[in-house]
Amino acid sequence: MASDTIPQILPAHEGNALARRGLMLILSSPSGAGKTTIARMLLEKDPHIRNSVSCTTRAPRPGEVDGRDYHFVSQDQFDRMADEGEFLEWAHVFGKSYGTPKAQVKSGLKAGQDYLFDIDWQGTQQLYQKLERDVVRVFLLPPSIDELRRRLTGRGTDSAEVIAARMERARSEISHWDGYDYVVVNDDIGHCFEKVKQILAAERLRRARQTGLIGFVRNLMEPDESAPG
Ligand code: 5GP
Repeated sequence: MASDTIPQILPAHEGNALARRGLMLILSSPSGAGKTTIARMLLEKDPHIRNSVSCTTRAPRPGEVDGRDYHFVSQDQFDRMADEGEFLEWAHVFGKSYGTPKAQVKSGLKAGQDYLFDIDWQGTQQLYQKLERDVVRVFLLPPSIDELRRRLTGRGTDSAEVIAARMERARSEISHWDGYDYVVVNDDIGHCFEKVKQILAAERLRRARQTGLIGFVRNLMEPDESAPG
């Protein structure tokens, strides 16, 4: 098997033994730590996980598609959705509003769908408080402060003040690293991706998520009628 494909996680015993509750994989990191790349690789290579598309009041960046990267909404729309309880969590990040719509994720989890969340530490805390058993929290760190500075320096067109502000924001995001279950240092994108895949594989095998195995295990424990004498 090619090393970059992700195998079926559960063995295909009886049909219902495959049934499992979905999980919510949260990836957070300071910008410049490679989170977007890891998220993209995971979505491309693993057919069992889907992106949770957030709502945001910020403007689309070049190349971003409404409904795929974000649902781009006005502040009025966002506030109405928040008032009507349509978000699982929401937060203000860098002066804009971001929120995770509730409807799709709740029914998807029941049906065994896994979701990937690219949200900040505030959203992570809120999701953990609401859906602790479904949440897997992963924080990515840059390999060094020099490397982070290099990644945040961009194309060399930004002023020293802009770069200093980005560094300060990154430090403040890093200070929340202890609110996560797993921490991966992204020194090499391939190694980092392997580690995130391993976390996902192990978390999928948690007993509490493997709801379909209850009947299967009960069958395994039945007295064996065909045993001699
Ligand atoms: P960006 O505008 O660069 O796409 O995202 C800015 C920050 O907002 C990132 O740290 C990202 O993880 C966070 N973010 C994106 N969507 C959500 C969301 O639905 N909820 C929360 N709490 N943060 C989000």
